[in-house]
Amino acid sequence: MEPVKRNVLLNPGPSTTTDTVKYAQVVPDICPREKEFAGLMKGLREDLVKVVHGDLQKYTSVIFCGSGTLNIDVCINSLLDKDKKVLVVNNGAYSSRAVEICEGYGLPHIDLKFPVDQLPDLDKIEETLKANPDIGLIHTTHNETGTGILNPIREIGALAHKYGAIFTVDTTSSYAMIPIDIEKDNIDFCMASAQKGLMSMTGLSFVVGNRAIIEKSKDFPRRSYYCNLFLQYDCFEKTGEMHFTPPVQTIYATLQAIKEYKAEGEEAKWARHTRVFNAICDGLDRLGFKQVIKPEWRSGLVASVIYPDDPNFSFEKVHDYCYDRGFTIYPGKIASTKTFRLCALGAIDKKDIEDFFGVFEQALKETGVQIPVIYKD
Ligand SMILES: *Cc1c(COP(=O)(O)O)cnc(C)c1O
Repeated sequence: MEPVKRNVLLNPGPSTTTDTVKYAQVVPDICPREKEFAGLMKGLREDLVKVVHGDLQKYTSVIFCGSGTLNIDVCINSLLDKDKKVLVVNNGAYSSRAVEICEGYGLPHIDLKFPVDQLPDLDKIEETLKANPDIGLIHTTHNETGTGILNPIREIGALAHKYGAIFTVDTTSSYAMIPIDIEKDNIDFCMASAQKGLMSMTGLSFVVGNRAIIEKSKDFPRRSYYCNLFLQYDCFEKTGEMHFTPPVQTIYATLQAIKEYKAEGEEAKWARHTRVFNAICDGLDRLGFKQVIKPEWRSGLVASVIYPDDPNFSFEKVHDYCYDRGFTIYPGKIASTKTFRLCALGAIDKKDIEDFFGVFEQALKETGVQIPVIYKD
């Protein structure tokens, strides 16, 4: 097996992958309608539930071909009963995306906004639920990838259930990284795409959730043909297959990625991501950079870094310098503040971050940025 040039991706996905995962895609051509392929999908669906410790009787997974946003779309458009409203607990860009999906389908919804650098206020959520007994679905984001704040999903889920609403959580940037227990965390539906925590390839996304609710949603208004949760679930249950063509090669890569996930182990993997994140924070601190989110609220997966007040600082120049040397950094996603992001996902370790900071510091120096970096206030 020829090694593939290794790039260290510090963007929030797709992530750096192992060569064994890359090469797992190279398989003899197969028609995904063959029994052999359906057999692989069955094991994959079960493993996706096991990652979040779901009981296989109570929870199931439904796989789609598409990027992670598809899951948010599927959950919101499929799990809202008629005459019900969506409540989006929104403190960042990825929850705003869920609001845009509600708008796209013309669904009644409440966009309950909180500042991007603050945790959502549970009392306000409860007040809203009390005042709006027609809320049928609450949606929020676990690790808000725009800033790296970690939202209190267990508490929000408890409120959802107290008021009889379905709780859907966008765990795209925490699944298979931060240990999640779907039942204890009060999650009805969570979701991810294969290229993030699982460190596989792009094109495969999945929703993990409560089987009884999916079955009940059969009678909810059907707002999409391709992106309906019940229809895809029903097809899997009856035939073992996806309704339409699956991302065949990505599925092979993901089977290998799950093998590697199990071999590394949930705790050891989370410890590695934590090691990487701590190395990122140490490097930033050493250079004087400020982050948007205060330490105790950080997910430990995304550092959202404020641009220094140095006229010489150019994200593009620093990016290009690092990119040419195999390190990818990523722009921010906050409207009000200029930021960039460094993320701790993927098949990388502390040493990669130390190497990165060598290059990053050189990039700052060569572009004339003062170190430690300066801020006006
Ligand atoms: C990556 C990500 C998504 C999905 O983005 P795509 O570009 O559609 O893959 C959704 N939610 C969160 C929180 C994410 O980090």
